[in-house]
Amino acid sequence: MRPQVLIIGCGFGGLEAARALRAADVDITVVDKTNHHLFQPLLYQVATAGLSAPSIAAPIRHLFRSQRNVTTLLGEVVALDAAARTATLSDGTRLHWDHLIVAAGATHSYFGRDDWAAHAPGLKTLDDAFEIRRRVLLAFEAAEREDDPARRAALMQFIVVGGGPTGVELAGTLAEIARHTLPGEFRRIDPRQARVLLVEGSPRVLQAMPEALSERAREQLAALGVEVRLAARVTGIDADGLDIATASGTERLASRCVVWAAGVAASPLGRVLAQATGCALDRAGRVVVEPDLSIQGHPGIQVIGDLAAAHSHAPGREPQPVPGVSPAAKQMGRCAAANIQRRLRGEATQAFRYRDYGNLATIGRHSAVVDLGTPVGPLRFSGYAAWLFWLFAHVYFLIGFRNRFVVLMDWAWAYWTYDRSARVVASAALNGASRASDAPA
Ligand SMILES: Cc1cc2nc3c(=O)[nH]c(=O)nc-3n(C[C@H](O)[C@H](O)[C@H](O)COP(=O)(O)OP(=O)(O)OC[C@H]3O[C@@H](n4cnc5c(N)ncnc54)[C@H](O)[C@@H]3O)c2cc1C
Repeated sequence: MRPQVLIIGCGFGGLEAARALRAADVDITVVDKTNHHLFQPLLYQVATAGLSAPSIAAPIRHLFRSQRNVTTLLGEVVALDAAARTATLSDGTRLHWDHLIVAAGATHSYFGRDDWAAHAPGLKTLDDAFEIRRRVLLAFEAAEREDDPARRAALMQFIVVGGGPTGVELAGTLAEIARHTLPGEFRRIDPRQARVLLVEGSPRVLQAMPEALSERAREQLAALGVEVRLAARVTGIDADGLDIATASGTERLASRCVVWAAGVAASPLGRVLAQATGCALDRAGRVVVEPDLSIQGHPGIQVIGDLAAAHSHAPGREPQPVPGVSPAAKQMGRCAAANIQRRLRGEATQAFRYRDYGNLATIGRHSAVVDLGTPVGPLRFSGYAAWLFWLFAHVYFLIGFRNRFVVLMDWAWAYWTYDRSARVVASAALNGASRASDAPA
């Protein structure tokens, strides 16, 4: 029997690892709790009705249709047994491994205030994106029917918490929807009167970017009509809005649509792995890995992507922490696959080295910031050229030719018309749950 490789999670890391083992003499099982691989960097476009779900998600089974050594299973791993080398799914099914790659990613963190989740959904999965889209579109609908000016103002105040790339992208796009997409479609409200606030706890947005680019991003957000509140700490969130604390005191912001883009925590599978193996977790719940991405005392188990607290080991340099971004997850996927092949050949494994090609963030139509590492030093720019660069980079990395084509067409259409094509909400219940039109069955 050939060696069994089990890969848990088919995000950026898991997909890349399985693909890198295409020619290996192993049998691979890829198990994921969803049936699709998701291109998270464009998830905010689904949440803001610019793209429909199938444009940024691809069925995992379809992706591996021609890779004969992969079996795809839909299921959630809930337990691991390191001694027996088995993973147990929620329905009790057991999967055996000789080599395990855990690539279960990350989830939202509300910094210990999980009660905020009901009032301020985060953006991580397609379901999250549908929920945010539903709340945004139905807030405008409710405002059109509302006679009370204070309640109407609250319905037309949209708040994004967290000034990282996702928060900046969401806030910029919400402002565009209010200013350009919706005007003319309502009779009793003027959508241009909607306020979009971006609340960030630190003194600047896009902390991972150089300070000058953060400032450009803030200016571009302001030009789009987003009110950026910096150094404002959220102290409470409920169904009617949120409380912030700033240097000048506390403030209540009324809103019926708050989106959480502030905190990330490792997948709960990290804790399951720690219980099974005794491996260490960092403060965010990420699994502390060895230089070759295995866990201490378990060379057959590797952890990659957002779930790993990994370091980059470049020759002659101090180890550097690896950021939670998709290129890092993909590179770790390739490294883990290479290490499995090395172990099968009886060779020593290799340490992971992260190659950082830079950071991009878009703010809205025509605006983005780009910070690229090049052999001759950093290349930094913003504005229209940065936006074009961002657009083509994202289309290039989408999975599948159809998706690239459809996304380009949708964006070209949106560019000329300001229209956002994915605005259908299947059930118009203003306060109840509803399914968006392109939600998977
Ligand atoms: C909204 C958003 C925007 C982003 N934008 C960017 C960007 O512009 N650029 C960038 O580089 N990065 C971006 N990122 C980060 C990037 O998406 C992550 O770094 C990357 O997805 C990590 O890859 P991964 O393989 O570790 O995890 P993921 O891609 O999250 O995949 C994890 C997979 O594991 C599955 N899974 C989880 N638990 C289980 C379980 N118990 N059993 C079975 N399956 C399980 C999940 O269903 C999922 O398919 C963004 C992230 C988000 C949320």
